[in-house]
Order: sequence, then structure tokens, then C-alpha cells
Amino acid sequence: MLKTLLDQAARLGVQVCTDPRPRTDRVYGFYDHDRRMIVLCGIAARDVCLACAVLAHELTHAIKGHAGRQDEHVEGLCDSRAVNVISLDAYTTAARYYPDNMWAIASELGLPQRLICAYQQHLDSTRRLVDRPRLEAV
Ligand SMILES: [Zn+2]
Repeated sequence: MLKTLLDQAARLGVQVCTDPRPRTDRVYGFYDHDRRMIVLCGIAARDVCLACAVLAHELTHAIKGHAGRQDEHVEGLCDSRAVNVISLDAYTTAARYYPDNMWAIASELGLPQRLICAYQQHLDSTRRLVDRPRLEAV
């Protein structure tokens, strides 16, 4: 997954850099449109899932050409792509162990709560599609 995302960044002409210093505002990364650069902030090398999630989110900003902070709707759209890095098995295990505790699930998976919330919305919308009654052909 990480290689796929890094390859996509390269194809887009977007440089990916890391800054080992954690930010105090819980921002794990950002996209600088003027420099065509994604910076991953304070993510340890072992936190591959978090790095993938942040990279997927920021790549969506790069693809859309977003410059600067976006509104919550746009950020939510970028999160909806980032949730693809979450393993359903890992989420299900964490959710069974910590039912109704988003903080604990997020901690278990090493991801921000915001992304777990987006993943839960993704699962809910998928279930609605699966549960939707099919129209019969006449
Ligand atoms: Zn964003």
C-alpha cells in the first residue's frame, strides 16, 4: 500500500518528505500546493498504517489541486479515500474489544479518531447499499 501511494505521488510530480517532529495540533501531514510537496509529520517508521492514511488523504488534496486548509466537507472527502488503508479485520477486532469506544479503537489501530469516524461512516454507507432492496425486473 505504501509503495503504491508513493508511486502515485511520483507520477503526480509530488515530493513526499518526512518531518520527525510531532506537531502539537494533531496534524500528521499537509500538502503544500505551491511546492508540490506532501510532508508527513511526527509519524514513526513503524506506523505504516498511519503513514498510508495520511498520504492517501494528502494525495487527494494534490490530485484536486487544493491549496491551503479546506473546509470540513472537503476534508471529509479526503478522509473517505484515506479509510481504504484500514483493514476490516483489524477494525472488527478492535471494535469487538472496545465496543462504542472510538478513542480506544483509534488507539488500537494507531490512527486518528477522525479517520475511525470516517471509516464507520464508510461501513454504514456500504451496509445501506448491501441492505437496499433490489428492484425486480418486470
Ligand atoms: Zn486535509
